[in-house]
Amino acid sequence: MRDASHINELRDLVARSCRIIGMLELSNPTQGHVSTRIPGEDKILIRARGPMEAGLYYTTPDEVITVGLDGKLIEGPAGLAVPQEVFIHTEMYRARPEINSVIHIHPSTVVLFTICDVPLLPILGSYNPSALDLIINNRISQYDRSILIRDSALGRELASAVGATDVCMMRSHGITSVGRDVQEATFNSINLYDLAKMNYQALLLGEPRPIRDDDMAVFRNMRSKEVPTPEKPGRPSDMVYSLWRFYSRRLADQQ
Ligand SMILES: [Zn+2]
Repeated sequence: MRDASHINELRDLVARSCRIIGMLELSNPTQGHVSTRIPGEDKILIRARGPMEAGLYYTTPDEVITVGLDGKLIEGPAGLAVPQEVFIHTEMYRARPEINSVIHIHPSTVVLFTICDVPLLPILGSYNPSALDLIINNRISQYDRSILIRDSALGRELASAVGATDVCMMRSHGITSVGRDVQEATFNSINLYDLAKMNYQALLLGEPRPIRDDDMAVFRNMRSKEVPTPEKPGRPSDMVYSLWRFYSRRLADQQ
């Protein structure tokens, strides 16, 4: 058993990630959820849905409920329920022991690329190496179906499409991102969005040019030494926590 203060910390991280995603308008206002694994237990903490919710931007820690890996509610206040797509999370935790956070949101600019079947190109260099890294190190997967992931069989199908990647583009639906903690999963979602936004704007402006092959090789090698595995998960980079602190402060200024 974990002590209550640790659980409260995790609950706060999940709620804050929801509010940051809401602040950045990375999803439609009420749709989407962030979760984290309770270490050492077959339980997760996840943003609840239901008649009492007020949308991602206003998620509070008491709206983060405890759910089993079977997708069933363990603990949560009245008026809130388990999200129907909880199986996106539970099956990902089963498939990826090194993953401790899952985010599922509906970012319009990313979804447009799945609708039009336009590939995201590696057009970002030093502007945002972390976003570029998603493409050049094959960390983006595709899920071709557009339905709600409402049972564990569909959750397993999605998890198998995600494989060992960190973000998945779900056709005409949204994205799923994962991380070793809530901060890293949030970072991956923001970077995929940045990549899609820049690709979209570049397409409006003209013909986007991928960066040079030799430059791409330099960026590719920057990551290859630190790919996390179940045996050696390592820890996220300092950049993840800098960005987290930045958005946490901006959130505090706004709310
Ligand atoms: Zn969804």
